Amino acid sequence: MTARFDCLIVGGGPAGLMAAIYLARFRRNVCVVDKGASRAALIPRSHNVPGFVHGLSGADLIARMSAQLDELAVARVEAEVTALRRHDHGFEASSNGDAHAAVTVILASGIVDTHPPFREWRAAVADGLLRYCPVCDAFEASGQRIGIIGPLRRAAGKALFLRGYSRDVTLLAIGEDDEPGATSELTGAGVEVVFAPDPRLRRRGGGVEAVFADGRTLQFDTIYPAMGAEVRSQLAMALGAEHVGEGYLKVDDHQRTSVSGLYGIGDVVTDLHQISVAFGHAAVAACAIHHSLPRRFA
Ligand SMILES: Cc1cc2nc3c(=O)[nH]c(=O)nc-3n(C[C@H](O)[C@H](O)[C@H](O)COP(=O)(O)OP(=O)(O)OC[C@H]3O[C@@H](n4cnc5c(N)ncnc54)[C@H](O)[C@@H]3O)c2cc1C
Repeated sequence: MTARFDCLIVGGGPAGLMAAIYLARFRRNVCVVDKGASRAALIPRSHNVPGFVHGLSGADLIARMSAQLDELAVARVEAEVTALRRHDHGFEASSNGDAHAAVTVILASGIVDTHPPFREWRAAVADGLLRYCPVCDAFEASGQRIGIIGPLRRAAGKALFLRGYSRDVTLLAIGEDDEPGATSELTGAGVEVVFAPDPRLRRRGGGVEAVFADGRTLQFDTIYPAMGAEVRSQLAMALGAEHVGEGYLKVDDHQRTSVSGLYGIGDVVTDLHQISVAFGHAAVAACAIHHSLPRRFA
């Protein structure tokens, strides 16, 4: 056992780093354990982070927040937390053979997107050919030839949202149970629906080409996958934390999970995957934790 922290934060994306900044400034003893795969690091340029008129990349945001944290006394460990145990006085977390004891834990472990069949998906995200967040960047895709790939039940809402930005929106329905009868709202709104169980995506010119099993192809400027995600809430679930179907943790107005002393913030608790939402959760959780711990006087 290395130390007993007031709070151990699992995850060093925007949510975890923001919570650490708040708690350190409350003069609490904090440790952030992060395995370094923030979704935010994939953002080529975000235009909805307040104060950055011309946007900034996700990597730049994380670097700036890390530098802010470096000015404060916060322990940071690059590792994966592989187990979390609850005992009478708090928690014990295991990572890389080390054990970390803490009175409270914030889970800020995010999600992992399910990617479409696109071998160079990471480079395509960097170039804006593959986009994961219409709420974040549909504005930048205005007027483009937009494709959405996923099962109808997941992709329909995204397609209708994106129809507000372009007349040229095509949904590539790849779900095994997808049926033509379920598309009237989409077609009524001017969304073309193509039933294509097994398309591959590849770069073509400055855009993306979808190649179907029968050799047909379709061209797009950008594609939005709607294929779901893995919610990284397993550490909390192992402690019995309540969650909703897809794995998002249930939290109250103070970001408390159903496990006493365990908090959830950011993408792991909501399907509104937004940096500003993660920041808000972090501020709320940090204040609740500070007030739950014994007072300390200077
Ligand atoms: C391509 C793309 C573009 C986007 N654009 C925008 C945008 O313009 N504006 C916007 O607001 N949002 C945008 N988003 C969404 C935004 O990235 C997320 O909402 C945000 O990153 C959520 O922050 P988080 O801290 O909850 O999770 P993450 O940023 O995913 O961070 C979670 C961290 O926890 C770590 N972790 C997980 N499990 C463990 C463990 N067991 N032990 C240790 N560490 C662990 C992960 O490695 C990761 O570093 C975009 C997302 C994508 C993919």
